[in-house]
Amino acid sequence: MDSTNASRCSPEISLDPDRWEDFRHAAHRALDDALDLISTIREGPVWRRMPDEVREELREPVPRQGRPFEEVYRRFADCILPYFTGNIHPRFFGWVHGTGQAGGIVAEMMTAAMNANCGGRDHGAIHVERAVIEWCKEIFGFPADASGLLVSGTSMANLIALTVARNAYVPDIRAAGLVESGGRLAVYASVEAHESSVKALEMLGLGSKALRKIPVDGDFRMDVALLRQQIAEDRAAGMEPFCAIGSAGTVNTGAVDDLDAIATVCADEGMWFHVDGAFGGLCALSDRLRPELRGIERADSLGFDFHKWMFVQYDAGCVLVRRGDLHKAAFTMRPAYLKHGKGQRGLAAGADWPCEFGPELSRGFRALKIWFAMQEHGAERFARVIEQNCAQARHLAQRVCAEPDLELLAPVKLNVVCFRFAPPELTPEAVDELNEAIVADLHESGIAAPSTTRVRGRLAIRTAITNHRSRQADLDILIDHVLCMGRARVQGMVAAGSA
Ligand SMILES: *Cc1c(COP(=O)(O)O)cnc(C)c1O
Repeated sequence: MDSTNASRCSPEISLDPDRWEDFRHAAHRALDDALDLISTIREGPVWRRMPDEVREELREPVPRQGRPFEEVYRRFADCILPYFTGNIHPRFFGWVHGTGQAGGIVAEMMTAAMNANCGGRDHGAIHVERAVIEWCKEIFGFPADASGLLVSGTSMANLIALTVARNAYVPDIRAAGLVESGGRLAVYASVEAHESSVKALEMLGLGSKALRKIPVDGDFRMDVALLRQQIAEDRAAGMEPFCAIGSAGTVNTGAVDDLDAIATVCADEGMWFHVDGAFGGLCALSDRLRPELRGIERADSLGFDFHKWMFVQYDAGCVLVRRGDLHKAAFTMRPAYLKHGKGQRGLAAGADWPCEFGPELSRGFRALKIWFAMQEHGAERFARVIEQNCAQARHLAQRVCAEPDLELLAPVKLNVVCFRFAPPELTPEAVDELNEAIVADLHESGIAAPSTTRVRGRLAIRTAITNHRSRQADLDILIDHVLCMGRARVQGMVAAGSA
C-alpha cells in the first residue's frame, strides 16, 4: 500500500523540536531572562556600544548546519541582548522612542504562536484588528464609515494617507499614472513637519518640491495666514494645491499646529487635510490635553503610532481615513487567488480584507499587542502616563531656566524640551560643539540618552519624554550630569588654551 510513499526512502522532517521537554525548559528560561532584563533595567547603563569583536562575530557566512537551540539562545544572550537601544531604560529620552511594556512581551510571544497572516480571511486576528481600529475611530472622533489599517509606523501611515489623498484628487491615476498633473500638485506642511512626508511625496512621484514648507510662529506652529497666502500664490501660478498636513506634536519641539484653523483652510480650498499625529495624536486620550488637538476630528486622514506614546512594542502604527470608500479605492485588487467577499463561506469569507487598504498582502498580527495593552491598562492609565511625561518636561524646563549656564531653546508644549549648556564666554560654534560632545558623553557613560537637533540653527540637547519608567529624579540626574560634563569640558578647554 505505502510502497510509493517517498517517506520510505528519506524520512520526512519538520522544524519542530525533537524533544519538546528540552525546548520547553529553554523557552521558560528565555522568558525569565526577558523579565529579569526589564525588571532590573534601571540598575544598568542606558546604552552600551556593541564591541567590535561582537560586531565581527555577527558577520558570519550562512550557517549550513543547525546547532542546538540552547546554543543559539546562549549566543543571543551573550552577543545581542546586552546591546539594546536603551529605550527600555528610564533615562532614555532620545528621538521619540516608546518604552515597551511587560505585557507586550507575552502578547508578542502569543502573536508568534498564532502566527496569523492579517492580509485577510476570516479568523480571530482580523477581528481583533477591526476592534482596535474601531477604538481608534472612537478616540479621534472619526465617523462610523471611516476606515483604518495598522501599519509599521507613521512613516507608512503618512505614505498611505497621502496616496489616498493623491488618488482622490487625480482622476484615473491607478491606471494612467501621473502623466497629466505631475509637477503641478502642491502639498503644504510647516517647516517643522516630519521628513517622512517628504519621503512619501518622493515615492508618490510628486517630488519633494511638491511640498511647500510654511514658516512657523514663535511657538513653532504653522503660520496659517502664510498657508493661505502660499496657496493663493500657487493657484495664481497654475499649481494645484490639493492637500495640507498638520502636525500634532512636531518632532523638534512638540509643537501642535492649529489643526482647526488648517481644517478650515482645507474646507475653504477643497483640499485634503492630513494630520501627522505620530506621538502627539494620543494626547486625545487625555481630557486635559485633548483641547490642544482641537480640529483633529476634522481630518480626512490621520497617522499615529502606538509604539511611541502608548508604549506598545515595535512596530505599531495606524492610519485612519475618514472616507473608507476612498481608502479602499486606492488599494483594492481582487485577483482570482484572493477571491473573497459576501456570500463566501469558510476561511476565505469576509468583505474588506486589510490587504485592500494598503500596499501589503502578508501582514503580521500587530493588533494583539495593542489589544493587550488597552485591555490591561485602559485608556485612562495611558492618559495619566502621557500627562505625567508632560509634567516631567515642565519640571525639566524649570530646572533649565533656574541654571544660569543652561538655555531653554523652545517653549515646552508637551513632552519635548530643547535646551543647551551655554556659558557666556564661548562662541556660538563652540557652544554647538560642546553640546554635541555632552550628548555623546551621556550616551557613552550610560547615564542618559537624549538626542540632538537644531532649533533656529542652534544645536539643542533634545529631550523627548515618551517613557513610562522615567521619574522626575531621572531628569534631575540628566541636568546634573549635563552641568557637570559641560563644566568639566569648559575647564579642559581653558586649560588647553592656557597651556
Ligand atoms: C516618529 C515620527 C514620524 C515617523 O513615525 P515612524 O513610526 O517612526 O515611522 C512621523 N512624524 C512624527 C511627528 C514623528 O515623531
